[in-house]
Amino acid sequence: MLVHTIDEVREQVRNWKKQGLTVGLVPTMGALHAGHKSLIDKSVSKCDKTVVSVFVNPIQFCPGEDLDKYPRTLDADEKLCTDAGVDLVFAPNPKEMYGDVNIMSNDFLTYVIPPFFYVNKLCGKSRVGHFDGVCTVVNKLFNIVQPDFAFFGEKDRQQLIILKKMVKDLNIPVEIIPCPIVREDSGLALSSRNKYLSPEDKVNALALSKILFNIKACYNKGITDVEALTETAYSYLTERHSLEYLEFRDADDLEEKTVADDNTIVFIALKIGDVRLIDNIAL
Ligand code: AMP
Repeated sequence: MLVHTIDEVREQVRNWKKQGLTVGLVPTMGALHAGHKSLIDKSVSKCDKTVVSVFVNPIQFCPGEDLDKYPRTLDADEKLCTDAGVDLVFAPNPKEMYGDVNIMSNDFLTYVIPPFFYVNKLCGKSRVGHFDGVCTVVNKLFNIVQPDFAFFGEKDRQQLIILKKMVKDLNIPVEIIPCPIVREDSGLALSSRNKYLSPEDKVNALALSKILFNIKACYNKGITDVEALTETAYSYLTERHSLEYLEFRDADDLEEKTVADDNTIVFIALKIGDVRLIDNIAL
């Protein structure tokens, strides 16, 4: 069932809770693909009822980003959800979520601000305010749906770590379930933004996963020095690639590593033309 209002969600969830049923939430921005579907499948198998939210959240986009051209495919998304056994698709518009306040100004909305140490690095460095927008909307979705479990992809690993921290720090009664990255056979991590890539740049985009897989192979052979592991990346980069970051950080608190260990995540972001892609791998 597709609904657009908070009241409809609340009424449905109230009925389920009265019957003692567990509720899983899968927050998305739509343009659903097999990566999203893996989260949905996990929720459907773990929970009695599954809610998928489809909302392109304006407050997590920075000025100059792709808010207006972000792919919106609600009919196809609804079909994918129905076929996958989802019980409720919640697709609000910005006014339903934020009311009449001017959301492009920070002056009129209560925000959830994650700790500076978690956001002053990786994607948070170039996307200033992005994680404030993410935490705020996810908090709102938690309050609206009141799920027992919420499913997030390791594809957005910094987001996942920040949301876990938010849930812990604010004592939110939900269990976050991390879900592995789904990749094409080529190694490219699925992303709604892959739609922006030309066939040629899709080939160029393989640099991300190749770099990560190669670093993991070197680590498995016993190389732990981060400088040496970083060096291995450069042979995959061409003039089509603009590397934003390649960093080794702790899986729990994002502390920087100079020596890699089994609790290290390698994070990469690079731009191909105008398209910014991210990926990561656990060592
Ligand atoms: P988005 O619609 O991009 O905001 O993503 C919604 C959720 O799907 C987030 O928790 C993402 O981490 C997750 N997700 C997106 N792509 C993938 C993927 N390739 N594998 C696993 N999870 C993914």
